[in-house]
Amino acid sequence: MKVGIDLGTTYSAVARYDRNTNKPMILPNSFGKEITPSVICFLDDGDILVGEDAKDMQSNGTGVNAAAFKRNMGDGSIAVSFNGKDYTSEDLSAMLLQHLIADAEKATGEKITEAVITVPAYFNDFQRTATIRAGEACGVKVPKIINEPTAAAISYGYKHASDKTVMVYDLGGGTFDVTIVRISKGNIEVIGTEGNHILGGKDWDAAIVKYVCDQFIDEFDVDPRDDLPTKNELIVAAEGYKKTLSIAESVTIPLNYDGYSAKYTLTRAEFESMTEHLLCATKDVCSDLIDSLNMSWTDIDEILLVGGSTRMPSVARFLKDLTGRDVVAHGDTDLAVAKGAAITAELYCSTATGLRAVQIADVTAHSLGVLSVSQDGSKFVNEIMIKRNSKVPSTVRRQFTVKKGNVTDKIEVFTLQGESRMPLDCNVLAKVVISGFYNRGQGVIIDIEYNYDENGVVNITAYQDGEPLSVVAEPVPDDIRWMGGSPKDRPSDETILKNIAICVDLSRSMEGDPIEAAKESIRDFVHTLASKDTKFALIGFGDKIKVVQELTSDSQAILGSIDDLKVKMVGRGTDASPLDTARLMLSSAAGIGIIVVLTDGIWGKRDAAVEQAMGCRSDNITIIAVGLGEADTSFLRQIATVDAGALFTTIDRLGDTFGTIATAISSGNMGLRTQE
Ligand code: AMP
Repeated sequence: MKVGIDLGTTYSAVARYDRNTNKPMILPNSFGKEITPSVICFLDDGDILVGEDAKDMQSNGTGVNAAAFKRNMGDGSIAVSFNGKDYTSEDLSAMLLQHLIADAEKATGEKITEAVITVPAYFNDFQRTATIRAGEACGVKVPKIINEPTAAAISYGYKHASDKTVMVYDLGGGTFDVTIVRISKGNIEVIGTEGNHILGGKDWDAAIVKYVCDQFIDEFDVDPRDDLPTKNELIVAAEGYKKTLSIAESVTIPLNYDGYSAKYTLTRAEFESMTEHLLCATKDVCSDLIDSLNMSWTDIDEILLVGGSTRMPSVARFLKDLTGRDVVAHGDTDLAVAKGAAITAELYCSTATGLRAVQIADVTAHSLGVLSVSQDGSKFVNEIMIKRNSKVPSTVRRQFTVKKGNVTDKIEVFTLQGESRMPLDCNVLAKVVISGFYNRGQGVIIDIEYNYDENGVVNITAYQDGEPLSVVAEPVPDDIRWMGGSPKDRPSDETILKNIAICVDLSRSMEGDPIEAAKESIRDFVHTLASKDTKFALIGFGDKIKVVQELTSDSQAILGSIDDLKVKMVGRGTDASPLDTARLMLSSAAGIGIIVVLTDGIWGKRDAAVEQAMGCRSDNITIIAVGLGEADTSFLRQIATVDAGALFTTIDRLGDTFGTIATAISSGNMGLRTQE
């Protein structure tokens, strides 16, 4: 059986599509009720109650209660700790879903295999994937999640065939969503959505609690909220008084605490006046959405009220006065979302169905961007790839270049969700590491593709010259404060293995001072860079090639081999290029490859050497060429693979030159930069 589940902040509901009547129908819980409180109660004896039973316990303050946990969905925080076990909101949602599914199965005698679950439109990627995981933890497939206002619009639009633009005003228990949809021949196109996820019916309840407690404090100088059970009781009771005020002009509220008793009368007019700011807050959200879509209120044909809190008479009146538009209540306020999900479940999950086709086009509630470096290189920025309120599924591919001179074989990409240019104001959704690209020495150019799928979940792929690259997800580091600073201050959070092949010209002209200066400079260079993550090899070249030392991280071994370097050990001329030998050695080693070539003359076979240098580039090996004395400057520039990678120096300054290279290698970090 396929069902739609409205996993609400305060109440949840399950519906299925009835193929006999061709209508969605609600599946009652084991108490025969259409909606189930989204509450879980952990009892001292170890029992865990869910739904109606848990709500009863909430009001009498027994056990540890978890309610409104949907507000923390996907943030990984511990919502409840009980009997030594920690529960996240995702765990609690899975327990609630399990309960809802069990009740629905009991009601129908059928097994539930698939469920379309609803989420607030503004839910981000974490919250959406956490919702999918919570469903799957119950052993059901979750082929689709759908935005709550879209679900409400589906259950409404499905019944109303006429064409119109509707604003779905969804004020629930803990959240507020506004969504503009165009209903045309029964098809539903979402144009835009906006929300405030901390505004809902609970705030109206809190206003009542505050009203009575303030008076109690005035009268008796004690605050009933100081006692947790009394406070909980008051919160639950306040919801009841609020509902009464939706039908009665006033309500009497008794309050007993600390030996004092009082009775307060609250009129509907007073209640509406003390909560008007909350309605104004919803208005601001609606106006923001209309403005951001370049629409005006006259473009809206009607406002559809959904969500339990729209039962308060003030809501419809406020909206009518504000906009002059028709305000209609969804006949099924509490059930519209579940029914829309059931229709969607039938559409997405079934093969044979009596349901006429309804096209549903939804939008993204957030912009999606990539952590990038500003044009002037001074700070990290959120480079938006997919703008909010884009149609989903939505795909954007954009070219990025990693600047020439940055030494690495991996590119880290951080995905940000949010509207701000400042990375730390956004959610850092994911980190992926891209590898497998080639580097021709001009910097790496790759295409990164972002895709919002139909569930509003984000997928990332990368390409070079149209060929897919390896994209591996890694956890987002705990400390991301560096994103608020300058790229040059970013601490390195990973170890990069480095393999450095030092190639020394041993032709006749190096005899005497040059080779001695070279040995001393190379010793200092090794001392500076020596670490367990760095390996060195030493290659001499002249007419022949000699590997004096294979790659090793044993600094004593490499220092010893430097002593062994002797002019003429490889012949007297300069016909041999060491680059192929070094390339072979480096390309089979894990980590990045760097060749440092020191020469003082003009090589016999320059074309062959340039070709070998090209081979090194294609293997992402960096070549730094150091020219001493008579060295051929244009040739060395040709074989160097990095910016300013050909350095020309004198015997006296050779130590400084190797020092500069050591600094460049040890600080070699990578920054993404958008293509200019
Ligand atoms: P929902 O999340 O859509 O299920 O809405 C739940 C919220 O609607 C809770 O805050 C309820 O207190 C509120 N609610 C339900 N019925 C009424 C009513 N008759 N008057 C005022 N608020 C209501």
